[in-house]
Amino acid sequence: MISRKILLKDEDIPRQWYNLAADLPTPMDPPLGPDGKPIGPEMLAPVFPMNLIEQEVSQQRWIDIPEEILDILYRWRPAPLRRAVYLERFLKTPAKIYYKDESTSPPGSHKPNTAVAQAWYNKQFGIKRLTTETGAGQWGSALSFACKLIGLECKVFMVRISFDQKPFRKIMMQVWGGKCIASPSNETNAGREILQKMPDTPGSLGIAISEAIEAAVTDSSGKTRYSLGSVLNHVLLHQTIIGLEAKKQLQMIGEKLPDIIIGCAGGGSNFAGISFPFVYDKINGKKIEIYPVEPAACPSLTKGPFVYDHGDTAKMTPLLPMHSLGHDFVPQPIHAGGLRYHGMAPLVSRAVHEGLLTPKAYPQLQCYEAAMTWVGTEGTICAPETSHAIACVIEEAVKAREEGKEKVILFNYSGHGLMDLSGYDSYLSGKLTNLELPQDEIDRMTAIFASMPKPNQGKTGKW
Ligand SMILES: *Cc1c(COP(=O)(O)O)cnc(C)c1O
Repeated sequence: MISRKILLKDEDIPRQWYNLAADLPTPMDPPLGPDGKPIGPEMLAPVFPMNLIEQEVSQQRWIDIPEEILDILYRWRPAPLRRAVYLERFLKTPAKIYYKDESTSPPGSHKPNTAVAQAWYNKQFGIKRLTTETGAGQWGSALSFACKLIGLECKVFMVRISFDQKPFRKIMMQVWGGKCIASPSNETNAGREILQKMPDTPGSLGIAISEAIEAAVTDSSGKTRYSLGSVLNHVLLHQTIIGLEAKKQLQMIGEKLPDIIIGCAGGGSNFAGISFPFVYDKINGKKIEIYPVEPAACPSLTKGPFVYDHGDTAKMTPLLPMHSLGHDFVPQPIHAGGLRYHGMAPLVSRAVHEGLLTPKAYPQLQCYEAAMTWVGTEGTICAPETSHAIACVIEEAVKAREEGKEKVILFNYSGHGLMDLSGYDSYLSGKLTNLELPQDEIDRMTAIFASMPKPNQGKTGKW
């Protein structure tokens, strides 16, 4: 009998996170300050607590997960590894398709894996309140959930247009005790300045990040910090529990290492979570194809150069070494809001540059078609972000059929789409279009990099 649900016992939960920075064949470039000089940990101290800054710069391969964090994660972890047998049958593929089901967390995505850890470390450090930004609301709801359980206040700056158009995530935040404010707001200088110039602006993630950082660093009590849901090293670290569980689950049923690993990539955290524990095997000689998948409308990995860029529009963050379309880039309003980010996690960017990962980009219609194939076979409604991974899975499973190879495919089912039904509505009513990014627009946005510092472009050439 085929195992469709591969479940670990609570006591088999991984007890350490995996830090890829310890094993990358070329070292990571440091973040740079406005003067172009590397910034030290103390310069980040007004923004993040020191225990998380230590993780951010750590070169240690394995980092213990505190027992109290595990005690919270047990609510939904270990998460199921499932086999998509109904999709396999439909595609008549000899490939075996496994996926980690991160939709089973209370907020419905992988994001609480790091929200819980970040809230816990802040609490340990004596912090009382976290600020953050959110686009469609996935991250804001995950952090509100974590703060509720850990006993912190949570203030979320939500991009105005989503605040108005997507009330349900906002209500989730409020139910978990989070304070959700439309951005730009009157609460910060950054917000007030923009409102004065553009009172009717729909807002953007870049503006919301600037507001959330300002709200954290200007609290005179010193008890507020800022929290980011993706991109940074410590965020990716917390997500590696996904891939570490998957590895145990595949071993449990006597399965070999995957031939292909796939995840959608916005800032890179869920992709890193499933793949980094296997990138370790690839660095150590195993043959694995690893695909981060992004939208064709926001192709930072496939079309953006490997540069130093700011993480936000207002240039409040340090310069990070990453693949980027430029901090002024505002992607088209595709429904996969979580994938509309101009940059990419430095660790994912470096691994792509090394050739350890092979990025792919798909247009949104193909992704919704893949989501509908999934609905008709596996039955669940995936997040629009997750549909990008599924589009790639279907392509690879069909390729395996054509080649007659019994490949093992592993992907990350990063979240459910039950709060994202308006995208499905547009698809079903035929209103959805492909929003691809013309090359001259990419050239225009990335021209800024000519005068900016460059990360080390060297690579081993092994992969
Ligand atoms: C936020 C989100 C993403 C994209 O973020 P990453 O940091 O790239 O993982 C993908 N899927 C879901 C369901 C999300 O909520």
